[in-house]
This record gives sequence, structure tokens and C-alpha cells, in this order.
Amino acid sequence: MEIKDEHGRTFKTLRVSLTSLCNFGCVYCVNSEDKGGLNDINSNAILHLDYDKLADLVIHLHKILQFESVRLTGGEPMLYQNLIPFIQILKSSGIKNVKMTTNGFNLKQKAEELASAGVKDINISLDSIDPEIFKVIARRNFHRQVIEGIDAALKNGISVKLNAVIMRGLNENQVLPLLEYAMSKKIGLRYLELMRMGHFYSKNFNEYFFPMDDILSVINTKYPLATSAYRNPSATAKIFQLENEYEFGIIANESEPFCSDCDRLRLDSAGNIYGCLSEEKSEYISDIAGDEIQLSEKLIEALKHKQPLKFKGSPLMMISIGG
Ligand code: SAM
Ligand code: SF4
Repeated sequence: MEIKDEHGRTFKTLRVSLTSLCNFGCVYCVNSEDKGGLNDINSNAILHLDYDKLADLVIHLHKILQFESVRLTGGEPMLYQNLIPFIQILKSSGIKNVKMTTNGFNLKQKAEELASAGVKDINISLDSIDPEIFKVIARRNFHRQVIEGIDAALKNGISVKLNAVIMRGLNENQVLPLLEYAMSKKIGLRYLELMRMGHFYSKNFNEYFFPMDDILSVINTKYPLATSAYRNPSATAKIFQLENEYEFGIIANESEPFCSDCDRLRLDSAGNIYGCLSEEKSEYISDIAGDEIQLSEKLIEALKHKQPLKFKGSPLMMISIGG
């Protein structure tokens, strides 16, 4: 059964949200009244699958789709109790590229174990070099731990890319410090435009939205851009080069949507697949994972949820679906 839509899109990368819990409370991800976060651990109603059952789902999906990579996310993936055994199951089933997106808080303790389990590539969310601004955005005073986490990952040979969501009035003055930090560490950096997700779907989005062109203008004041910019097929980030040859990316969901060649599939910790972040609908697959025909049918349904061209956003919370 061919899993392809009329735009020629299929699923080539999987993002697995291991948990909807988090030890941070980033302002763009959760609003203070939302459920989620460790403070609300008892009120989190999502029924998580056991880790071996969740791993089994990933393996069945991989059998059909032959993913180029599987990225672990959340919530905060490093709070997942069976993280290392989960990764080991994926690796031993032949999934070569297991990556992770994390807030970096526990990375100092876990980097060595992750590297030994075969994780070679980690995206770390860091929205500010200034600890005070960091505290306002993450709602936690954990800047030092994240910086130490980045160092620990690098020391263990893990390739690191920073993700920085830039918001007007909050951290636009961090565009240059983040760039300079990333250049000094010789690591990747991707600025993210704020996405209309969760509480930003219905209100306040325009107030905080800081577009790609504004990010580039700030950078150009100090570091002239070389002329060429490109986006690889199915990639989220548009890549820019400075005259000093350092390359950085901007994920510009709003300014330059990349839905037309999106190849991402998402799986949450309860066993639902999502074909698109802009669509609340999901397909429950936990009960049919072993049946290739039924699973393929669900994948075809999920593919229909992708937007043709433009990212519309959704009330789905990033903390549950995983970004
Ligand atoms: N807790 C991990 C972390 O923060 O890296 C993984 C989960 S988090 C939901 C994944 C990514 O989504 C992070 O890089 C975060 O910055 C991004 N994100 C969350 N809400 C967002 C929003 N409204 N707009 C843009 N990016 C967002
Ligand atoms: Fe937690 Fe990541 Fe959401 Fe921040 S962006 S609240 S670290 S899940």
C-alpha cells in the first residue's frame, strides 16, 4: 500500500513525544493556567503506554516507512523513566538515527549514557544567554544547568544544535548573544519563529511574533550575511551563511511555511499518530500496530491531515505533541 499524497509527500521522519510532563514552563509552550509540568503531575490525564509497547509501535511504523531518523521529544524526554532502554530497543531493531530535542536540564548527568546508547545528535532549547531573561522565558532559574548540559554533550562527542524561539519584547535582544555563543562553541543554531500553537493559537500571537526578516536585520547590524540562503528538501530550517562562513538556520513557519514538502510524522506517548501540527485530529494505532494493512490505512489517513501549503497552527499544546 503506497503511503503518499497528491503532493508526493510521505513520512520519512518520526518525532516521538515520550511524555507530556516537563520540569520547565516555557512561556511559548505552556501558559501558567495550563496543565502540564511537574507541578501538575497528578492532574496530567494522558494515559502513557509502557515503554516497550511504545517502542513496539515505533518499530512497526519503521517497518512500513523506513524512517531516516526518529527524534525523541516531549514534554521533556529526559524525564522519561525508561529513556535508555527505549533507545536501546530502537537501536537494536535497526533504527540507526535516534536523535533528541531537550531542554538540557539533565544532560550533564545523562550525556555519557546517551552517547553510549548511540545518540549522536541532540537539539537543545536555549532562548537566552542572559540568565535573567532565561528565567522569565523558562519560568525556571536553570540557565547554568543548561549551559553545563551543552558542555557535557559536546564532551561526550554528541553533535549539538541550539533551538531558540525569539519573541518580541522578551528575547529579541538575545539574537546576537545566542549567535556569538553558538559561534564560540562551534555548534549549530536555529532561530524559531513563534508558532501559533496551544495558548498562542487564539490570542496574543501577533504581540509576540518576531519574524524571520527582523531576526536577519538584527544579525546584519553586526555580522553581514553572505548572499546565498537555501532550504534542503523537507527540512524545516532555511540556512543562512555569514561572511565569516558560520551557518545558522531560521525555522520560519509563518514567514516561509514549508508544509509543501513536509515529511514528518508524530507519535504521542498514548499511541496516537499526528500527520500535521496544524491539525488536531490524530489516529489511534496502539491496538492495531501488528497489522500492517490497518496501520498503513491509518498512515494514509494521517497524511490527509497535512496542510497543502501554509501552517495554520492549532490549539494542540507543544508540551503534549512534542514540537
Ligand atoms: N522539552 C524539550 C525542549 O524544550 O526542547 C522538547 C519538547 S519542546 C515542545 C520542542 C521544541 O518546541 C522546543 O525547541 C521549543 O522551543 C519548541 N516550541 C514549543 N512551543 C513553541 C511555540 N509556540 N513556537 C515555537 N516553538 C515552540
Ligand atoms: Fe518544557 Fe520544552 Fe515546553 Fe519548555 S518547550 S515547557 S522545556 S516541553
